[in-house]
Amino acid sequence: MSTDPYAWIEPSLATIHRADWYRSVTPIHGRSGATVNLDGQCLTNFASNDYLGLAGDDRLIQAAIAATQKYGTGSTGSRLITGHRPLHQALEQTIAQLKQTEDALVFSSGYLANIGTIGALVGKRDLILTDHYNHSSLKNGAILSGATIVEYRHNDLLQVQELLQQQRDRYRRCLLLTDSVFSMDGDLCPLPQLLDLAEQFNSMLLIDEAHATGVLGHTGAGCVEHFGCTGRPLIQMGTLSKALGSLGGYVAGSATLIDFLRNRAPSWIYTTGLSPADTAAALAAITIVQQSPQLRHQLWQNVQTLQQGLSQALMDLPSAYTLLPSASPILCLQVDSPATVLQLGQTLKQAGFFVPAIRPPTVPTSRLRLTVMATHQPEQLQQVAIALSQAIAR
Ligand SMILES: *Cc1c(COP(=O)(O)O)cnc(C)c1O
Repeated sequence: MSTDPYAWIEPSLATIHRADWYRSVTPIHGRSGATVNLDGQCLTNFASNDYLGLAGDDRLIQAAIAATQKYGTGSTGSRLITGHRPLHQALEQTIAQLKQTEDALVFSSGYLANIGTIGALVGKRDLILTDHYNHSSLKNGAILSGATIVEYRHNDLLQVQELLQQQRDRYRRCLLLTDSVFSMDGDLCPLPQLLDLAEQFNSMLLIDEAHATGVLGHTGAGCVEHFGCTGRPLIQMGTLSKALGSLGGYVAGSATLIDFLRNRAPSWIYTTGLSPADTAAALAAITIVQQSPQLRHQLWQNVQTLQQGLSQALMDLPSAYTLLPSASPILCLQVDSPATVLQLGQTLKQAGFFVPAIRPPTVPTSRLRLTVMATHQPEQLQQVAIALSQAIAR
């Protein structure tokens, strides 16, 4: 018998290294924004989820400071005991108003929102249909729920319909899970059709608006608004940590759903309430989203500029490099191998651009992933496209 029960970890790590799957962390200095200081080098930032540039916005910072002074740093307990502040109530009402739902519930992260909500909605006697490209939090939420899980091919409506026809009747409840913007590809889910199928087969639908809230839709409410599906019966979740520049997650839906989650979602019940600073910053962010549509317009203009720049730069390149279809500020260039994508990321970094290389197991194929911010300057967008074509040509 082995004498060291932890001896397996080192060879496992070596396997990760050999596959070029190894990851590590690098500190980013200074306030986050369209440029960042990485290892003492100033880089144009194409790696951030801070689409509107709000994480470094003075209005959010001031709101966080004021809330900290008024309520302290921690919320000191779970929401049901000592962790509930008027700020939480105000934030939940504001989210419900943005989403045009009856109510909303704020979790300490988006990951916790998905895990707690899915487990509260379905169990052993139930069925989950989930898109193959869904976020880790949806996948792990599904596993933790104990329901039967069937993964369907990415955005394949015909397969969803087939699965519902074959399997729906064998289960008590059924829950469809989908990202709204697929975070590692940048495309959107076919929401209206998914909603029709859900209704036809007496199934619930949970949509993850993490990358769409503040970004898509006429008022920034997300993909649901973008597709004109506001008011239709579904469960909308999202995060406060991307376009809203703070931390935390939420679920928005009917008053009955939210009331039920307050009683049945363990990742909400048994965890400390969101800190006053994060809560106040998110509240300030939603107010800005509602009052400053020009921020969103600037973001979409920048998306267009980068999309055109990239298409032009990639025109003469081998077909091993393809721009994945996108309808969001997430633009991905597919690359043939993990080693190549790492090399490209490194070359871009030397040229002054922070563009993350995304590899398996996060995604099926390696890719460079560029996220556009409203605060990027047009020159920065044109320059990264040129630097990218030069890096590939080398
Ligand atoms: C980031 C993300 C989450 C998790 O949100 P956090 O608040 O960061 O925990 C959930 N779903 C998707 C699609 C995400 O991109």
